[in-house]
Amino acid sequence: MSLPVLRIGVTGLNGRMGQMLALSIASSSEAILAGGTSRSPTGNSSCPCFQSIDELAAVSDLIIDFTHVSTVINHARTLEKAGKAWVLGTTGLSEREQAAVNQAATHIPVVQAANFSPGVTLALSLAKKMGAALPASLYDAEIVEMHHRQKVDAPSGTALAIGEAVAEGRGVRLADVRESGRDGHTGPRGDNAIGFAALRGGQIVGEHTLLFTSGTEQISLTHKAFDRRIFADGAVRAALWLREQPAGLYGMEDVLGL
Ligand code: NAD
Repeated sequence: MSLPVLRIGVTGLNGRMGQMLALSIASSSEAILAGGTSRSPTGNSSCPCFQSIDELAAVSDLIIDFTHVSTVINHARTLEKAGKAWVLGTTGLSEREQAAVNQAATHIPVVQAANFSPGVTLALSLAKKMGAALPASLYDAEIVEMHHRQKVDAPSGTALAIGEAVAEGRGVRLADVRESGRDGHTGPRGDNAIGFAALRGGQIVGEHTLLFTSGTEQISLTHKAFDRRIFADGAVRAALWLREQPAGLYGMEDVLGL
């Protein structure tokens, strides 16, 4: 039996991701845009816009949320109280904000991911396997990322997630082996290091390459995002998957069945 059409509410509808999400939802036959929140006019006259997430939650089955870290605690409490599922893409959470997400997930289903691209999710899974199979005693692991010239943080959250995956595969903490931003007389790389290099330029949406280099071979894994739409399509895919799940905190790897 087919499921009823999913009414999705989008917070921050006028943001870069909010606009992409409206396009992704419009192209799905299984979901409709129930409305959004916006702090300024959306230009989307066919979509009801609300001042608060409480009002949006009342007309939605599920909320997709790519906004700002300052909203996370309020959104977690509101959605837990309203009993509405939550797809959370906002990044840069502190421990306190993450604890609020974890608490909400004891009562509602939540998918949270720093990157909703299926390609990156698969790359993270492969990076962990590569880290386990290609030990630091034989292979030097390095991660190179390139993004648009406006990006303010480096290395990117995705590059760090790839580093975490390699570290996990090697059974070490990334914080103990991370080498970022080499410049000047740095001495040789650390024996167990996981290195990072960040390039910036133009309007590149996001490129990441993970390299393992030994004395006798090199293997590399590259992902390139051409369009932000990939994150929005991934979030809608996660939303459709989430409607059949019980309360809990899930990742994009659960959505893909990895
Ligand atoms: P943006 O600045 O273009 O849009 C942010 C939206 O949130 C705007 O509509 C803004 O009005 C709204 N907003 C900001 N602060 C708010 C507040 N205090 N209360 C209510 N609304 C508020 O940003 P963006 O590029 O769309 O990115 C949004 C978030 O999504 C960021 O955290 C970004 O890192 C993250 N992101 C995640 C992924 C992923 O795959 N997980 C991909 C891209 C972006």
